[in-house]
Amino acid sequence: MIVPIFLTHFGCHDRCIYCDQGYITTQNDTDIRRLIQRSLQQKEGVYEIGLFGGNIFGLSPDYLKRLFGHFDDYRDKITNFRISTKPVPLNEELIDILKEQRVTVIELGIPSFNNDILEMLNRKH
Ligand code: SF4
Repeated sequence: MIVPIFLTHFGCHDRCIYCDQGYITTQNDTDIRRLIQRSLQQKEGVYEIGLFGGNIFGLSPDYLKRLFGHFDDYRDKITNFRISTKPVPLNEELIDILKEQRVTVIELGIPSFNNDILEMLNRKH
C-alpha cells in the first residue's frame, strides 16, 4: 500500500503555470508534522510513503533531513519512500540524503524536452 502525502508546493521556487496544488488536492496545511500525523496515525500494517505535490529537489539539505525526521515515529511501519519532483536543482548531497532515508523510487516530472515550451510553462529545467 502507498500512503500519499501531498507537500503542497514545498520546494517550488517558481510556479509552473498549470499548477495549483492547493486547488488540486484541496489541502493547504503547511504544518508538515500535523499533516504526517493525520495521514499515518490510524494506518495499520506496513506501507510505502509517496511524497507528492511539491519539488523535493528544491528543498535545502537541512530542510530535507527535518522533513524525513517527522516520519521517525512511524519508521517500523514504513518500507520505503517514493517521491515525485522536478528534475532540478539537483546535487549529490540531496541524493545521499534520499538514499539514507530509503527513497527507492524517484518520479521525475518532465512535461517537455523543448526549452521554448518549458519557458512558456515557467518550468525551467
Ligand atoms: S514544480 Fe510541481 S508542484 Fe511545483 S509548481 Fe511545478 S508542477 Fe506544481
